[in-house]
Amino acid sequence: MSKASTAAPSPNALPSYLDAGNLGPWGIYLQQVDRVTPYLGHLSRWVETLKRPKRALIVDVPIHLDDGTVAHYEGYRVQHNTSRGPGKGGVRFHQDVTLSEVMALSAWMSIKNAAVNVPYGGAKGGIRVDPRTLSRGELERVTRRYTSEIGIIIGPNKDIPAPDVNTDGQIMAWMMDTYSMNQGSTATGVVTGKPIDLGGSLGRVEATGRGVFTVGMEAAKHIGLDVSQARVAVQGFGNVGGTAAKLFAETGARVVAVQDHGGTIYREAGLNVPELLRHVAEHRTVAGFEGAETLKTDQFWDVECDILIPAALEAQINKDNAGRIKARMVIEGANGPTTPEADDILKERNILVLPDVIANAGGVTVSYFEWVQDFSSFFWDEEEINARLVRIMRAAFASIWQVAQDHQVTLRTATFIVACKRILHTRELRGLYP
Ligand code: GLU
Repeated sequence: MSKASTAAPSPNALPSYLDAGNLGPWGIYLQQVDRVTPYLGHLSRWVETLKRPKRALIVDVPIHLDDGTVAHYEGYRVQHNTSRGPGKGGVRFHQDVTLSEVMALSAWMSIKNAAVNVPYGGAKGGIRVDPRTLSRGELERVTRRYTSEIGIIIGPNKDIPAPDVNTDGQIMAWMMDTYSMNQGSTATGVVTGKPIDLGGSLGRVEATGRGVFTVGMEAAKHIGLDVSQARVAVQGFGNVGGTAAKLFAETGARVVAVQDHGGTIYREAGLNVPELLRHVAEHRTVAGFEGAETLKTDQFWDVECDILIPAALEAQINKDNAGRIKARMVIEGANGPTTPEADDILKERNILVLPDVIANAGGVTVSYFEWVQDFSSFFWDEEEINARLVRIMRAAFASIWQVAQDHQVTLRTATFIVACKRILHTRELRGLYP
């Protein structure tokens, strides 16, 4: 609620568009920063830096629809922080995208990139559109106009978009082409997650799911969980959930439940993941998969499992369902799937949460490899990429685990401690301009 006020805001008051009272994704992020501030030592003097985006651009995206009318969509690109390097983070196309959401997602990118120590700040973009309502031509026009509008702030050395919810290699190809046309030469390094033939990297599509699996395996060792005997439940069966499910199933784990936008399926003996991936490629949903029981949407949270992987959208695990979750470990494939209240409930119940800002960092890590390969125009083989990815993820996870032990805090707080210190240290080294 806005209240009339004539008093001038204090010098450190948050800008009006950062409505901390509204516990949307941005409000959740601010709470996470507050939780970590006591651990930042002398760097806490810079913490205000993290509580506002460096730069936020709202753009109008008008296009001709196939029926000849003109439609306007709202687009955003937010650069939360660039202390450690250019902005980096995906672009999502979703009807519920808001500025607050994109700001939070951009901030989580700053944390994530610092947590795995890739030389980037954090950024994110989005268009408030349901891409399923667009024809292929309309989708291309929306993508190109949006890219042209945000072209004033992106670039291979400024801010590098990538795929996120409902965006893929083809969309990255259109973005790369539009940016390149506008500047008069091909700039492959302006986006990552491109098709291989356009300077994309081997292993990028599976990278996020592979990272989820890698940190899951590491954490399982710490809590004495035998993954080959584990039951896994996955929410979201796209790029992230699908790949993670496949890799867990390959170790012998049983993927017992999968939920997506079309339905929830269950099989106690374990679903055949390769066949389910084929079913989804054809039908675009897990619903209707032969040999599986159908559950009601809400029953997903009651499934008996050892590992739960939310790999869809934000705030899926909240105070209403956190008390029902049966898993020993939650691996956040999605960004922001657990609310702070749910985090507290899970902690209380001794359920280990591997937070998004480390668990799903595999995607941006291989995006970094793609960007490096584009700059040198020299491409690595998939084995090398996967080996480097696993090395980075394991090392990052080990240091975060240690910080969690040292301070007796959750892995989320530990990841924020490591990341915020890195960001604020560079902030301090660079100093304030002018
Ligand atoms: N959208 C992905 C994420 O949330 C990847 C971002 C990137 O590769 O830049 O981490």
